[in-house]
Amino acid sequence: MRRKLLLGNWKMNKTPSEAVEFCKEAKELGKLARANKVDMGICVPYVDLVPVKKILKKSLIVGAENCHYLEKGAYTGEISIPMLKDIGIDWCIIGHSERRTYDNETSEKCNKKILALLANGITPVYCCGESLETFEANKTKEFVEEQIVTGFKDVSYDDAAKVVIAYEPIWAIGTGKNASKEIAEDICGFIRNVITKLYDRKVANKVRILYGGSVKPATVKEYLTQKDIDGALVGGASLDVNSYKELLTSLL
Ligand code: PEP
Repeated sequence: MRRKLLLGNWKMNKTPSEAVEFCKEAKELGKLARANKVDMGICVPYVDLVPVKKILKKSLIVGAENCHYLEKGAYTGEISIPMLKDIGIDWCIIGHSERRTYDNETSEKCNKKILALLANGITPVYCCGESLETFEANKTKEFVEEQIVTGFKDVSYDDAAKVVIAYEPIWAIGTGKNASKEIAEDICGFIRNVITKLYDRKVANKVRILYGGSVKPATVKEYLTQKDIDGALVGGASLDVNSYKELLTSLL
């Protein structure tokens, strides 16, 4: 049985002081989430990680939004996995479409990051998803399959189910134009079949697949009641603490 997962993605929002205010109110959510068998957390900018982790401790998942795949070296402005581990971070988003678009993040690079995170016991949340052009050309499945196959290259049988996949059609991110639950379920089910082909059904049944793209408290339940959608990666609606709380309470 796969546990439901609600993950916020703050992107480049909230100063450390703003993050602290949010967390003081959000930390009580952990108990409610656990009581209802939901894993819940937020992925935040690097400078927010330490203050956020200090308040939330283990009550909610705290994740980074990116990392470098090398341990250390001359990479000005980058953050390594040992740095994340040292401050107790055990989740990290990889390959968000904004990084793919603005920072030349390829699936090959994502693969290196996924392998390095797994080797360090950190859960990668691997994002995939197509542009509007690809969607309209009816090429979503082949596009997403390529992202999954490349992202999972050399990921061992034992590690595969530790990767969380987030299907996020680019045309639905931050646009208010969400994919219908039928489209989201179709692609999440397809991704599960790709994992079956790469590994087997047992692994595919364990992998958690999230939908992301303009999810709001009013719509979260319709996605999470689909067979192959195990949770949501939520940007805008995770920034306001009341809306973040409602993502959970609207599921109950
Ligand atoms: C995201 O940042 O991954 C995302 C899905 O954003 P939004 O919910 O704002 O569309």
